[in-house]
Amino acid sequence: MKKIAIIGAGPAGLSASIHLASLNKNHEIHLFERGKIGDNIICAEGFFDFFGTLNIELPEKMRVKKIILLAEKEIVVNLPQNSNILTFDRTKWQKNLAKEATTLGVKIFENTKIEKNEIKKLSSKYDYLLDCSGFYGVTHHLFPKREVSEYRKNLIPALQYKLEGDFSKYEGTFYVKVFDKPPGYFWLFPRKENNEIKRANAGLGLLIKRRNSINLRDLLNKMVENKFCDYNIEGYSSSPIPTKRMKTFMNKNIILLGDALGLCSPLHGGGIDSAYLSGYYVAHSIVNNDFSYYNTFLKKLDNRFYKERLILRLWKLFGSLWLLKRLENKGLFSEKLGYPPFSGKWLNKAIIKIFF
Ligand SMILES: Cc1cc2nc3c(=O)[nH]c(=O)nc-3n(C[C@H](O)[C@H](O)[C@H](O)COP(=O)(O)OP(=O)(O)OC[C@H]3O[C@@H](n4cnc5c(N)ncnc54)[C@H](O)[C@@H]3O)c2cc1C
Repeated sequence: MKKIAIIGAGPAGLSASIHLASLNKNHEIHLFERGKIGDNIICAEGFFDFFGTLNIELPEKMRVKKIILLAEKEIVVNLPQNSNILTFDRTKWQKNLAKEATTLGVKIFENTKIEKNEIKKLSSKYDYLLDCSGFYGVTHHLFPKREVSEYRKNLIPALQYKLEGDFSKYEGTFYVKVFDKPPGYFWLFPRKENNEIKRANAGLGLLIKRRNSINLRDLLNKMVENKFCDYNIEGYSSSPIPTKRMKTFMNKNIILLGDALGLCSPLHGGGIDSAYLSGYYVAHSIVNNDFSYYNTFLKKLDNRFYKERLILRLWKLFGSLWLLKRLENKGLFSEKLGYPPFSGKWLNKAIIKIFF
């Protein structure tokens, strides 16, 4: 029997707790969340299962059938039938996961913020301490300074409005306007609720670190005002996205997962799938007492992020229009490919075809 403490009930922490509890019923698992589970989530609620291995129930899910990419010229990417790009209700999802964890015997402590100065005591009380606290990285002070500093340097800014209005014409569509100086994109992801499309997440992310010279809020306002006329802004939120993974994932019995380790895509910022998977692999590593499970997964992610960075580099060098046209001309946005853009197979093909 092992005692495991988990800090943070986002996708990483919830996944770790569920998989630990289902793999070994005798473990004592305590999950600490500083707020209420599912509240204050900052997310566009787009789900992209990069490795195609996740078979999870997502509430209010809507399959994305096409992506409209705008970079001066509009490119419409029709996605294949089996595409695993969706929108969903992340609040409901996390609340459902918490219920599942509780049923499996996990003890959840909401409104319990773990402070930096409690970490040492906590790590001596438990066999393992999983840091799933997101980009806050509440245990980062115990990891190599140079890696933490690189991690911080590669936090990219993102902000978002939750819009209410009639977005039915965007049903099954991701609308993405890319820009170059600096590289980044505006997104509109419509959301299904009770079979209606009356909400959408509209946001802006840069693919470089924050620059004080750029007023992101003004930029987002302009994008939203130019694109839509009939909408209400229900909420505004902003948070950085960590795109550089720290090499050291474990210090003694403290393990970093999800955003706390820096597992977001450097190309589009998505990180729900890798956070969830990090929970799965850490659970298997702990139960089998073998951290090669987690290490192998992280190596796979490194490989993915390396290719994504190559594409981002080309975007920075030649501009988004050049890149998108090249991808289109080489057949990489064709439905016939049988797999969606930005997936594993697609990345491999794209890297070769862009150059040759
Ligand atoms: C604007 C924006 C839009 C995004 N859109 C998408 C998207 O559409 N698709 C996608 O795949 N990814 C998206 N992401 C990224 C995605 O949200 C993250 O990669 C994902 O949430 C990481 O999960 P996590 O469990 O590691 O961390 P988090 O989801 O950040 O969860 C961390 C949890 O820890 C808790 N916590 C923090 N500190 C403490 C503490 N000291 N004590 C106790 N609890 C604590 C927090 O309250 C939180 O619940 C987006 C990010 C941003 C900023």
